[in-house]
Formats: sequence, C-alpha cells, structure tokens
Amino acid sequence: RLSRLPHHKTLDDYDFSFQPDLDPRKVRDLATLAFVQAKANVALLGPPGVGKTHIAVSLAVTACRAGFTVYFSTLDDLVRQLKAADAIGRLARKLRTYLRPHVLVIDEVGYQPLERAEANLVFQVISKRYEKGSTLLTSNKGFGEWGQVFGDEVLATAILDRLLHHCDVVPINGPSYRLKNRLTAIENV
Ligand code: ADP
Ligand code: MG
Repeated sequence: RLSRLPHHKTLDDYDFSFQPDLDPRKVRDLATLAFVQAKANVALLGPPGVGKTHIAVSLAVTACRAGFTVYFSTLDDLVRQLKAADAIGRLARKLRTYLRPHVLVIDEVGYQPLERAEANLVFQVISKRYEKGSTLLTSNKGFGEWGQVFGDEVLATAILDRLLHHCDVVPINGPSYRLKNRLTAIENV
C-alpha cells in the first residue's frame, strides 16, 4: 500500500547532477534495500529543497515493490496520532501502526520542536523498532540540534543512541531544487 505517500517519485526522477556533493552510489546502495534486510536505519539530512523527501519516498516505493511493508508519516503527524490515541487509552494499539511495518518513514524531523511528553512518544517508537525494523528519517537539523528538537538532551541522546547504532547517514548539503528555476529567472533578468 503506497497510498500514504505524498507522491510516487523515483530515483530515476532525481537529478544527481544538481546535487554534486551527494554520491549517487550511496543512494543506489540504499536502493538495494540491504538496510531493510539488516533492520538498519537511514537518516537523510540537509536544508529544505535538497530532495530528502523525494529520496525517502523513492526508497519507500522501492521497498514496497519488493514486498516489504512501508508506512510513511511526518514526525508531526506521528506525534499527533499517538497523542490522540493516548488521550483515549489506545496508545498501545496506535503504536502498532508504527511498529509493524518493515520500513517506517518519518519525514520532517526538526521542523517543529516537541514537548517532553511528545518526544517520549517518539522515543517509544524508535526504541521499540530498534533492531526489529528499519526507520528512514529526514531532518533539516543536525544531530547536535536534536536536544532542542526533542526539548530534552537526555531524551534526544537516548533516541539518537538507538537510531544511530545501525544507520546510514546521508548528508545532502547543496542548493534547493525548489528555488532552482527562480534563481535562474533572477540570473536572466
Ligand atoms: P526536501 O524534503 O529536502 O525539502 P523535497 O524532496 O521535497 O525536498 O524536494 C523538493 C522538490 O524538488 C520536490 O518536488 C522534489 O521532487 C524536487 N527535487 C529535489 N531535488 C531534486 C533533484 N535533484 N532532481 C529532481 N527533482 C528534485
Ligand atoms: Mg521534505
């Protein structure tokens, strides 16, 4: 089921020449899905518009086509869903949504800082998935800033500890593809 994905873009739609600091081999290696077999994680890090969501979605589509179960969510939506379930005594049931799939994509870690109770829900997901399933996340924040994102250094460290033990970290530091045409337009004025 691919219905929760924001789009179905593939790696073939990704123009690697626009992001020269990103090694295409690194991304193509991920597309072999060895990380899914190994129940390891992937972190795509970088500023807005570099294609983090695009690459996360294309890996999710690849995994789904290979027969793995995939669930896609933004971090904000995951937290909102878990909080709402917790409020009516259904946290354990809702957690299963995020624990069951072979691949859980958590998009946009760091856009909104979380409160402690919210960060604790994220910790539950990450720690329960540890060595049981793959978590693929995207973030515009470096790991050093996760203390601020999760509102608590100790909790952020505990999350990073589980996440990074088996993790391919892919930094994408380059220009925003969203601004590409606009910048060209300005240059041509
Ligand atoms: P991010 O999640 O890093 O903010 P997105 O993945 O949402 O960025 O990318 C923004 C838009 O630009 C999307 O429509 C995406 O498909 C497109 N895009 C980004 N990088 C590339 C690229 N290198 N080649 C082709 N399209 C790209
Ligand atoms: Mg994105």
